[in-house]
Amino acid sequence: MEPKFWIDYPQEHIEGEMYKYRCSYCKIETTAINGLIENHEEDCTFRIEQEKTYRQTISQKSHIDVNQIRGADETD
Ligand SMILES: [Zn+2]
Repeated sequence: MEPKFWIDYPQEHIEGEMYKYRCSYCKIETTAINGLIENHEEDCTFRIEQEKTYRQTISQKSHIDVNQIRGADETD
């Protein structure tokens, strides 16, 4: 199951900014990412890795959905 918020990406402190952190792959600030995978750069290593996992989840889900639809059709 895919998480609603993506907060487990590697972060690094922004130099000279006391409370600011950013993704250590794409360098986008955590406040701009706001826990959403699509707010990372498209070529962000973390985003690419997560989207690989996410796509696998999606295809598994649609496989189950197709079977459920078939089952429903049979009972009709
Ligand atoms: Zn990133």
